[in-house]
Amino acid sequence: MDTTYGMDIKYKNTLDYAQHLDEKNPLRHFREKFYIPIVNGKESIYLTGNSLGLQPKQTQEYVLNELEDWATYGVEGHLHARNPWLSYHEMFTETLSEIVGGLPEEIVAMNQLTVNLHLLMISFYRPTKKRFKIICEAKAFPSDQYAIRSQVELHGFDPDKTIIEVEPRPGEKTIRTKDILKIIKKHGKKTALVLFGGVNYYTGQVFDMQAISKAAHEAGAYCGVDLAHAAGNVELQLHNWDIDFACWCSYKYLNSGPGGVAGAFIHQRHVTDKKRMRLAGWWGHDKESRFKMEKDFDPIPTAEGWQLSNAPILSMSAHKASLDIFKEAGMENLAIKGKALSNYLLYILDEINKKSEEKIIEILTPRNDSERGCQVSMLLLKDGKAIFDGLLKAGVIADWREPNVIRVAPVPLYNSFEDIYKFGEIISAMIK
Ligand SMILES: *Cc1c(COP(=O)(O)O)cnc(C)c1O
Repeated sequence: MDTTYGMDIKYKNTLDYAQHLDEKNPLRHFREKFYIPIVNGKESIYLTGNSLGLQPKQTQEYVLNELEDWATYGVEGHLHARNPWLSYHEMFTETLSEIVGGLPEEIVAMNQLTVNLHLLMISFYRPTKKRFKIICEAKAFPSDQYAIRSQVELHGFDPDKTIIEVEPRPGEKTIRTKDILKIIKKHGKKTALVLFGGVNYYTGQVFDMQAISKAAHEAGAYCGVDLAHAAGNVELQLHNWDIDFACWCSYKYLNSGPGGVAGAFIHQRHVTDKKRMRLAGWWGHDKESRFKMEKDFDPIPTAEGWQLSNAPILSMSAHKASLDIFKEAGMENLAIKGKALSNYLLYILDEINKKSEEKIIEILTPRNDSERGCQVSMLLLKDGKAIFDGLLKAGVIADWREPNVIRVAPVPLYNSFEDIYKFGEIISAMIK
């Protein structure tokens, strides 16, 4: 694949040019595998794949197959369904390993994201009187903030004295890696856990997970990452970066449907440690002896050992429909196209600013290539809500965050350079 394609430095703000970028893009055909929502009788410009990914056309068939097998086999489907339910989750290991950069034994599809975050914090946030602090990003996604605070309280500590949030410098929008590392060093001796998003949901900033993990370990702390906005968006190397644990959801970039089954990663060096504290359930118990229904918990020596319940097959069948597409497209190719799309989008937004008398749009997302995926967050300096409403009327589905931020994520599987061109035209027309 041509890795530079779409990263042109001589972009043009014309329909012809955008279509030409699409024609040359090797992933262009994947768009046909998805249903694009219809607004005002025509295909919308869907830019919220970071919030809810679109439905692959093959999802219905995958879900219907499981309903059929349930009808045909009843309980026997656990063993005799076309994809036996007993081992259903095992089908995800390979593709998810590729998506997050983990070894097969480090990966499991289970539960929901915030649930997994809690389960993993039970295992990796083990505060003592001397070492109890958690370092995280300021303005993390609210669910993560609630999870972190409640875990701190669970252990009898005061969240306000325990959680250290790393903030952007005054006047800046994103957090400098240097500042993160400095704070880890400063509080290192008292820090039990460093927990960051892979990609901040608000700004789209990709954090330097490798550097954060290294600093956390040098300080003697564990390092976890929430990949809600990273999985399926940017290239990840969790194993090589030595991350202790990670979790993600599947309904954003992973297109597995609302509330779809989530995932977790636990580093190889921890998965065989049967003594590690965890909240246990029967699905985490040794597969050979699970149905002997004996008293002592014997965890599977892989990430599967953190499973609690038997797998939600209907939700997992939608996950499979989507992951089969990821496998075909390849995560590396997707990450390249995602960056190319956001790069073109940044160019288009710059053009809009140039054309208008005063600056209308401030970009919150880092321009630096390594600190961004496909998402671009724009701060509207005036008439934000009116512009957002106008976008909606014109068939653009984007995401509004108070007070005046519009987040857009051109997704490499189904968005096109043409979508971005048209998006720019619609905004341009409104701010003249
Ligand atoms: C989307 C998102 C969530 C949502 O949590 P669920 O448990 O899936 O409802 C949590 N954290 C982050 C960082 C997110 O982006």
